[in-house]
Amino acid sequence: MKPDDGYIAYIINPKSGATSSKLVGRWFEEYLVKKGYKVKVSLTTSLANACEVATDAAVDYNCAMVVAAGGDGTVREVAHGLEGSDKPLLIVPCGTENLLANELGFDEKLKTIIKTFEGWFIRPLDLGSANGKCFTSIAGFGFDGQVVRRVSEQRRGHIDYFDYFWPLWRTFWDYKFEAMKVTVDGSEIFQGRGLVFVGNISRYAVGLQILHYADFSDGLLDICVYKCASRIHLVKHSIFTVLKRDVNCSDVIYRQGKEISVSSDSIGIDTEIDGDPGPALPVQIKVIPRAVNCVVPEGARPAGIRTRIIRALG
Ligand SMILES: [Mg+2]
Repeated sequence: MKPDDGYIAYIINPKSGATSSKLVGRWFEEYLVKKGYKVKVSLTTSLANACEVATDAAVDYNCAMVVAAGGDGTVREVAHGLEGSDKPLLIVPCGTENLLANELGFDEKLKTIIKTFEGWFIRPLDLGSANGKCFTSIAGFGFDGQVVRRVSEQRRGHIDYFDYFWPLWRTFWDYKFEAMKVTVDGSEIFQGRGLVFVGNISRYAVGLQILHYADFSDGLLDICVYKCASRIHLVKHSIFTVLKRDVNCSDVIYRQGKEISVSSDSIGIDTEIDGDPGPALPVQIKVIPRAVNCVVPEGARPAGIRTRIIRALG
């Protein structure tokens, strides 16, 4: 992209991220200005505002590309705002997890972001829609929904890994393993007690590989159900997931599809989408194929658990 192609809408969530990742956002903006690009910075006031700013950029003829500097929530809202437009989106990862950025092959280094921008390698990104709410990465039903609800109830601004400890611990001890029903493209694939994940990326929190075969631009969502009725069974699933043995187990169901529904006779089952509290069941999920064009590092692979831990230790 050249400076006379148009301005760059630079959307920043000032609340997201640790100080170090915020600096990367600042440095990249400085780099663009130094290279002669016209940069229009918008500091978001809420997630809804991030979506509005992106929607305005999507329809502005003079805007050549959009940068989203923030965590997964900000990136999701910007992607939602850009849905269906051909404006390229570049992510500057500034959150705790950066699930999508990690999947696209980013790390949090300025060097990687500049190289990606200069390489201008574009891949389409599918989005998911859960009861009309957009998501980029993963929707979880049951256990992780409850963890996310607890984290968000105690949330004060930016969150880090330690904020997940007590919610995880408490959910582990009082989770009820209620039954759910899952259908994919019209056929029922599961009914019973278990944990359900639907998504578009292969790596989940801390680099765990749950949706092994997920490809973010294949026009399909991946579904993984861990049959699970007890804490001991949950521990077994966790160990097998870390060891990447889970997909071959008889108590794991793996499918791909375009329309998924998750329902339950129990009330109050928590859900999460992209790490934020999600809609109540029943939830209808649809894939929105090739919704956004993303500028991504060419040939990069998602980082796994080991790389993520090394990065977190900094
Ligand atoms: Mg996919």
